[in-house]
Amino acid sequence: MRISYSSLDTYQTCPLKYKFKNIDKIAEPKSKEAVFGTLVHSVMKFIHSSNLVPPTLEQSLDYFSRGWNSEVFPDELEERAAFTQGVQMIQQYYEKTDIPAARIIDLESRFSIEIGDDERGRHTVSGIIDRIDKTLDGYEIIDYKTTRKMPSQDKVDNDIQLSIYLRAFLDRYPKEAENLENITVSLYYLKHGVKMSATRTREQLENLENTFLGVIQAIEKAEFPPVLSPLCDWCGYQKICPLWKHKFAETRKVETEEVTQAIEDFMGLRRQMAEEKQQIAKLQALILEYMEQEGVERVFGEAGIIGKSLRTTYKYDPEKLRAILDPLDKWEAVLKVDGIALKNILATLPPEAKKSVQEAKVLDRQSTSLSVKKTGASAEYSDEITL
Ligand code: SF4
Repeated sequence: MRISYSSLDTYQTCPLKYKFKNIDKIAEPKSKEAVFGTLVHSVMKFIHSSNLVPPTLEQSLDYFSRGWNSEVFPDELEERAAFTQGVQMIQQYYEKTDIPAARIIDLESRFSIEIGDDERGRHTVSGIIDRIDKTLDGYEIIDYKTTRKMPSQDKVDNDIQLSIYLRAFLDRYPKEAENLENITVSLYYLKHGVKMSATRTREQLENLENTFLGVIQAIEKAEFPPVLSPLCDWCGYQKICPLWKHKFAETRKVETEEVTQAIEDFMGLRRQMAEEKQQIAKLQALILEYMEQEGVERVFGEAGIIGKSLRTTYKYDPEKLRAILDPLDKWEAVLKVDGIALKNILATLPPEAKKSVQEAKVLDRQSTSLSVKKTGASAEYSDEITL
């Protein structure tokens, strides 16, 4: 399979989005964030492309203004805010960077690398590295980011995009594999003027290949479930996505007052149930306290009698239990996989074992239920009302 890094990344974010884009070939309307990011990236290339004298700040701002596309913004206010932000990013870049001193060896560097083997299948991954610099004792591979949210250092230490860029770099300069500790991979957050850097080990690069092969296998198995995440806000396929399309009245096939009312009533009743549950817990605490004070086990009201009952749960010592049941050949019969315990240890397993555990998963049973999420203020994926 030939696949670009960005397609692999799309699949990891949301397999259904990958399908819309790469298999169904449905063109995605460019989001304002994507258009803004592309322009800022081209300004960065403009700043560093000159072999002689780099452009002045004014020239770079002029380049930015000329590339500006106002059509992607819904209103003037949003457009003005984005434009100001772009100007500030460029100004800050000039303030913080010694531009003539940068020792850049390549910009927007295209790569195409082979991964896999005869057994696991051979695949080609392609992509573009924003920038490669020569440093005193090695190299620095830089990817520009225009997002506001910055990741934790741990995420940068394990970022797959940076790892694949490094792998591509080593394909081009294989001798540098001996100098791995002096090759830095960096994410440059232009909005904050902050660069977050890390290095990679050989082991990390080997694991990267397994991760990618796993993603490619899933794509080949045609597994394309939608995955709800904050990135849905930037997805151009919301109007055809089963998780979102109902939000857009024009995409609804059947619309009746009865269903509209049922949706409102359902949410209202769920809210009411949650409130009642809280109220019951408060009343119960009050009555139990009263029973304690009175020294009684039951209290009498006009509508009935409330009795206190003690619920006790026990657990068994597994070693002692095994010693009893094993000789009777009954031990295996009481063992069953504890899904929660397994989930808890999954993150601590080595990648291969983790993958094998995932592959050992078989469908047990399925049922459909409804959950309620608050809408508005981008809370549609997070604030589930727990009942
Ligand atoms: S809206 Fe979200 S869930 Fe739907 S395709 Fe896009 S990213 Fe996936």
